[in-house]
Amino acid sequence: MNELAEVWPQGISVGLPRSREVASAIAAALAIPGFVTLLAFTNVSSATPRVLYIAAIAAAAAIGERASGLLAAAVSFVGFDYFFSPPAHSWGVSRGADIVALVVFFVVGAGVGQLVARERRARRRAEVAGARARRLEAVAAALGQARTAQEVLDVVLSEGLEAAEALAGLIGLVSEAGETIEVVAQRGFDHLDLDRWGRFNVADDLPLSETVRSGEPVYLASGADRDRRYPSLAGETEMSYTLVCLPLRFEGRTIGGLVLRFPAETEFDQERRALEEALAAQAAAGLDRARLNEAERAARDSLSFLAEASELLASSLNYERTLSQLAELCVPRLADWCAIDMVATDGSIERLAVAHPDPAKVRYAHELAERYPPDPDAPTGVANVLRTGKPEFLPEISEEFLAEATKGDEELLGIVRELGLHAAITVPLIARGRTLGALSLIAAETIHHYTEKDLQLALDLARRAAVAVDNARLHAESEQRAAAARALRQIAEAVVLVDVDGRLLYWNEAAANLLGGERLPAWQLLPLEERGAGKQSAQVTVPIELDGWERWLQVSRVEFEDGCVFVLRDVTEERLLERTRSEFVATASHELRTPIAAVYGIFQTLLRDDIDRDQVGEEFLRLGLKESQRLADIVDDLLLAGQLDAGNPRIELTGCDVGGIIAELVDATASRINGSHTLTARVEPNIAVRCDPLRLRQVLGNLIENAIKYSPDGGTVAVEAAHPAGRSNVIRIEVKDEGIGIPEPDQARIFERFVRLDPAQASGVGGTGLGLYISRELVNRMHGRISVTSRRGAGSIFTVELPASDASTLRTPLLSRSANP
Ligand code: ADP
Repeated sequence: MNELAEVWPQGISVGLPRSREVASAIAAALAIPGFVTLLAFTNVSSATPRVLYIAAIAAAAAIGERASGLLAAAVSFVGFDYFFSPPAHSWGVSRGADIVALVVFFVVGAGVGQLVARERRARRRAEVAGARARRLEAVAAALGQARTAQEVLDVVLSEGLEAAEALAGLIGLVSEAGETIEVVAQRGFDHLDLDRWGRFNVADDLPLSETVRSGEPVYLASGADRDRRYPSLAGETEMSYTLVCLPLRFEGRTIGGLVLRFPAETEFDQERRALEEALAAQAAAGLDRARLNEAERAARDSLSFLAEASELLASSLNYERTLSQLAELCVPRLADWCAIDMVATDGSIERLAVAHPDPAKVRYAHELAERYPPDPDAPTGVANVLRTGKPEFLPEISEEFLAEATKGDEELLGIVRELGLHAAITVPLIARGRTLGALSLIAAETIHHYTEKDLQLALDLARRAAVAVDNARLHAESEQRAAAARALRQIAEAVVLVDVDGRLLYWNEAAANLLGGERLPAWQLLPLEERGAGKQSAQVTVPIELDGWERWLQVSRVEFEDGCVFVLRDVTEERLLERTRSEFVATASHELRTPIAAVYGIFQTLLRDDIDRDQVGEEFLRLGLKESQRLADIVDDLLLAGQLDAGNPRIELTGCDVGGIIAELVDATASRINGSHTLTARVEPNIAVRCDPLRLRQVLGNLIENAIKYSPDGGTVAVEAAHPAGRSNVIRIEVKDEGIGIPEPDQARIFERFVRLDPAQASGVGGTGLGLYISRELVNRMHGRISVTSRRGAGSIFTVELPASDASTLRTPLLSRSANP
């Protein structure tokens, strides 16, 4: 069996085998003329032997072609000449007729033989061509079934090789960049050195490179031919075969080449070449289609992967968890290892997630990360991607790269080698121009290299992840802001936020209330430096005029990178109280000093030798008693105010004869003032209030005292008590004077502790500023209220309203009092 038969066991020959063919031709050439001779002797007339011999020669030629025809012609002529050409039973070509017969016999033998041979050759060729076409069709059908590039390669190197009747075949594909040819499959090249011939350049001086460059087939019939055309291959192994390189072209592009090896003596006729080229064209179309299919499938896979990843990223605002899940999703679909690193707030690199199908390896990776913490200044890797915001793409990790990356650290190099890293992609997570982190995909055990498409997919994934992280952070920030805003709304202090240029960014309700309304119109009134520009102390108290009133604002500020937060507090009241308090100390000291000085003076006078004690003694003692009383009153006021502050003076409510109390007070006062003022009292008959009588006496006494004190020019002080119109459950008591009056803005203040109006306004009258405070507190505790109406210089009316009581329940009957005392 020859090599061809190995490749093509069915064989390609048609018709009978050669030796049997020759035997039958010889038999026909001998037997048919012999039979004709016998036939001519028995039943044919003398004229017909020639015709019969000619038929016999034709028959023999039809069976055995020209050689058989010529042999039959020779045998026929011998028979014809001996038996039928006169003289019978003798040899010799003597007559012209014999010569004619001889020529005719040989012409018929040669002519018919030639015709038959030609016809048979044509038929055989047609059959071979038909068989080839059928085989090529079978290859086309098998290619039609092939879905992947690998399946196409398998079909070309099995059915295809057989169809082309080749001994061996090899397919090389041009790289994406168009610079190299990579051997992707071979069959029959058993001793091919793949390290040497697995990949070579399109520009190399090699047969397949030439085919790819020119797009034309290259036929190499012998080693000499090869060495002559490709000197670089001279001296290579003995070439005992014919080599054919065919371009794999599709739609004008050469995507690679098909190399076929044939037996040395193979002839490459037109048909054979056409078949090989057809095979190459089919292979190219099949590969292109498979590539397209694979690209389509890969695109579909990518899309569905991205959709899945997007769904995952959108599933929660806890981006740390979703990114960890994303890393898990990437292995082993996109990578054998996936890592996600984030930029921490202090700029350091924080590893958020590492994923690998083997948990032990993940632990190992964490250990490694601890032993070799990331260097933020590293020229390559995650640090570089985070610094530059540019992706890093290592389609194949070379030994040199590893050596350089590990910077001579043999141990680390050993570890990295052991991990078997093949390729890596690191892409930045960028949102709104900021690099938030990096996603690394690493090919090791199952994936062997990365392509541009993988990089694009990683970039797409990183974009989505970055948007998700950014959204989650924005949401957290806005939640935080909302919580802060809610808290700010609740607090009583006014808070104002300004940017670095002093523009208002935010303020709370308290600020709006303090600074004149919704858009803080009064903000502009603050001295400039308090609003953010310039330097000033952290806390200042500044005056500001609001609605014609001076208010004092305490302004604290805290600066931060985007601006400044101001906290404002209205301290007007506090300042006033503070002032009032210090004034009180002065006043109280002065008030206490006056009676003390008087008593002291009296004692000194009484001790003198030059006075007559009997004569002046009583007068002095009375004076001393009065001053002591005044001292006691002041101290009582101070004590009571203290008790009221503490909230616990004893109050006992009972039905009181208000008329009686007023009458007593008016009587006592009238006798004391010696007619400097006119005192009147008018009380509705049979009224009673529910109160603590001692406290009511104190309140009214104080009001009457003030009415006299603050009417330095005399006049009438009238005390009245009655039901106000239509309110039977209330008794209203009024103390009216014609004195200096109280300016309207001060009217509310005078009921506060220690508040005394301007001494000039009060005409230099002494006091502690406690009387009205005590009065208000006592009235409130008796469930009543006190108020004033007054005009400056036009006298004042102090009004006390208390709950009415049933007059009939009083133990002592009421006297009707309405007259002057
Ligand atoms: P004091 O009289 O001891 O100063 P008060 O609390 O009784 O303290 O009064 C507070 C202030 O109210 C007084 O200092 C005075 O300026 C003002 N005032 C009180 N009563 C009158 C009044 N009848 N007429 C004018 N001013 C008054």
